[in-house]
Amino acid sequence: MAKVHVKRGDRVYVLRGEEKGKSGRILRVLPKENRVIVDGLNMVKKHTRPTQTNTQGGIIDSPAPMDASNVMLICPHCEKRTRVSRQRGPNGLVRICKNENCGRPID
Ligand SMILES: [Zn+2]
Repeated sequence: MAKVHVKRGDRVYVLRGEEKGKSGRILRVLPKENRVIVDGLNMVKKHTRPTQTNTQGGIIDSPAPMDASNVMLICPHCEKRTRVSRQRGPNGLVRICKNENCGRPID
């Protein structure tokens, strides 16, 4: 199983597909499928059944999973798209921004 390179809460940039060129924050990672759900991107209409809080049910907009290989991490320090290397830190592996003039830990 390939390890997904992004985590919940990361800001990512979309490289391909319908949302190409947009960015958003990761809401969920689906490691088994190597997919991610990004806030506000890849929106689909979802039919919902009536519940106690929403007695009408109906159609809501909801972000659908996209392939994790289609997104690239945006470094929170230099605000640029980046690849990461991993280094062992006191609390496990830490991702390090590979951009020149940055090199700061992301986790
Ligand atoms: Zn950086």
